[in-house]
Amino acid sequence: MDQFPDICELARALIRCPSVTPVDAGALDVVQKVLETMGFICHRLPFGDGPTGKVENLYAKFGTGRPNFCYAGHTDVVPPGETDSWSFDPFEASLDEGMIYGRGAVDMKGAIAAFVDASRRYLSVISEKDCSLPGAISLLITGDEEGSAINGTKKVLEWLRANGETLDDCLVGEPTNSEQLGDMVKIGRRGSLNARVVVKGVQGHVAYPGTEASSVHRLVRLLASIERLSLDAGTEYFQPSNLEITSIDVGNHTTNVVPARASAQFNIRFNDRHDGESLRDQIHNWCNTHAKDFDLDIEVSGEAFLTAPGKLSDVVSAAVAGTTGRKPILSTSGGTSDARFIKDICPVVEFGLISRTMHKVDECVSVSDLSLLSDIYLEILGRYFSEDSP
Ligand SMILES: [Zn+2]
Repeated sequence: MDQFPDICELARALIRCPSVTPVDAGALDVVQKVLETMGFICHRLPFGDGPTGKVENLYAKFGTGRPNFCYAGHTDVVPPGETDSWSFDPFEASLDEGMIYGRGAVDMKGAIAAFVDASRRYLSVISEKDCSLPGAISLLITGDEEGSAINGTKKVLEWLRANGETLDDCLVGEPTNSEQLGDMVKIGRRGSLNARVVVKGVQGHVAYPGTEASSVHRLVRLLASIERLSLDAGTEYFQPSNLEITSIDVGNHTTNVVPARASAQFNIRFNDRHDGESLRDQIHNWCNTHAKDFDLDIEVSGEAFLTAPGKLSDVVSAAVAGTTGRKPILSTSGGTSDARFIKDICPVVEFGLISRTMHKVDECVSVSDLSLLSDIYLEILGRYFSEDSP
């Protein structure tokens, strides 16, 4: 199997594609070409039709049996920001003192290279033993995770359903470790909700105030009351839900007018004690109590979910511990990911590289972490498909 790029070369080839979301820039071709040489059946699934054209997605599968173990991730990246601040061109994949620099190095082209590498190694072990794969390995790779996520994983999952494809377990390769590989496996995520409230009052002269009618006073009372609220005390696997006020806007440039409108925005990261609907009702009650006359706009971008500890998390934890010597924490911290869509289909956990430089200037991954991640993914496949797992 010498014709395959090694894991470093594969990661670097991916980083060299400037796939700033939702542009593909040839990234999925790089993955597809290697997977096809390995015998994967590849389906390209373009969806939507935005200003930059269709969003590219890839579903690739080796084997036809069950269980189908799926690896999910994305090849799109966030913009590099101020290119001048980078030590190396963000799309050159420069190698310096054992580190590969570039946008997407840890989030998450490195992890995609590791999964391809681990699959290749696992399949060659199997063919050396003259065995057949007891199930299937698949990759679900989207080009729309860092952006709106409308034409990515969600639509691919609909396509899978329509085509009778089943995923039995899924590992998302987002960066989950804070300091070193083996720190953390994510078994769920908090939900996220954004609310924008516009409080309506009566415009008037500042020298003749009607405090009751002041939009600003009502908004201040509303925000003061919700800022101190405890939404819950957390659960075994979730930290307490949290509300953050993200903006307060009045836009009044005069000194002698009480404005008719005052608005604010807040975000709630919530655990599985709540859902979007129950919070929507609560927020309405808060506004009714304090703001009286208001417009409210609420958007739930993801519900909280938990993959209860079981076979999948046991296999992943055991593989991480067996390879790194570190027992990972099972956590639900951090932002949202495409696991929020996959959880409706099958158990899903997340494990990838170190998150320290993701989305930052000089995003980088060490060559040794790339090979270690490939070793961990290889160990996961071995344990997952063995009779007496984990
Ligand atoms: Zn990511």
